[in-house]
Amino acid sequence: MKIAVFSTYHYDEEFLNRFNTGHELTYFILPLNEQTAQLTAGFEAVCIFVNDTVNEAVLRILHANGVKLIVLRCAGFNNVDIKAADALGIPVLRVPAYSPEAVAEHAMALILTLNRKTHKAYNRVREGNFSLERLMGFNLHNRKVAVIGTGNIGKAFCNILKGFGCRISAYDVYPDAELAASGVTYGSLEETLSEADVVSLHCPLLDSTRHMINAKTLELFKSGAMLINTSRGGLIDTQDVIEALKSGRLGYLGLDVYEQESNLFFHDYSEGIIQDDIIMRLISFPNVLITSHQGFFTKEAIEQIARTTFHNIDAFINKTTLANRVKL
Ligand code: NAD
Repeated sequence: MKIAVFSTYHYDEEFLNRFNTGHELTYFILPLNEQTAQLTAGFEAVCIFVNDTVNEAVLRILHANGVKLIVLRCAGFNNVDIKAADALGIPVLRVPAYSPEAVAEHAMALILTLNRKTHKAYNRVREGNFSLERLMGFNLHNRKVAVIGTGNIGKAFCNILKGFGCRISAYDVYPDAELAASGVTYGSLEETLSEADVVSLHCPLLDSTRHMINAKTLELFKSGAMLINTSRGGLIDTQDVIEALKSGRLGYLGLDVYEQESNLFFHDYSEGIIQDDIIMRLISFPNVLITSHQGFFTKEAIEQIARTTFHNIDAFINKTTLANRVKL
């Protein structure tokens, strides 16, 4: 099959080439969006990632160009208009679970770094500063951690928290019986947020979850609590979170995702002028740690993404069950 692969970096090419089951792949560094959709002329499928934009206008161009399949190299699908794709008869396949541990471990890395300030200690020691001033953290043991969304990643994260001796409360529209039996306490969103020392978001971005962390829900947080988001930027109203950081309501913020990330993440602007004043304000806080959507970025995860992507493509060609099709 002739496949246009968008938003690619050298590691995408390396792993997709290694696990290719015989398809003709053309790599584009550019993201797929309304400006680049015409590049799909002559291709039967497109392979995309988290910051490609496949709205109805893009889908119409894909359809007119003869694209019959969209394969996502990720789990989240909030960047694709699934209803419009269905109406045009273009199936959208995703990689539902490649390595939940990769993202869960990154969430824990954000917590540990923010808490124990190892990023600051690293720089201090390299400059000959061995002072401990302002490096004091807190024990995670016995702290209450709220896990919002206990699917694949949330569950892996709960298992890590257990090893740290944390008390775990959770909120999910579909509570997990196994986790509940293992001592995780499910409650309402409000209860869960209000009791926690650390809140970590692991639910998908949907209309119902957009800006679930906003001025109103931030009011419920314990003063000085930590918020971690490795899920999707749109779960948080960033302006409200900035206000909560300024007032001290939020004591720490760890982000691997950001609502406007598509213009920034995965690119090097170190010699440029960043026009996004919101992210620059966030970066200015001493208690904010931002990584650029790297939760998924482990060898194991990238390998599984490549394998499942070709499995999805081959299932479509062989007309077998499309187990990873995104349904509304
Ligand atoms: P999943 O589908 O296995 O689990 C999501 C869970 O959220 C489910 O249990 C679901 O019931 C729950 N949920 C749905 N609506 C909810 C709501 N309104 N409130 C609370 N919970 C709700 O997904 P997953 O594999 O665990 O991934 C979770 C999210 O992580 C993805 O949607 C994606 O956005 C994000 N993600 C980020 C990275 C990264 O690199 N940072 C990588 C992969 C996935």
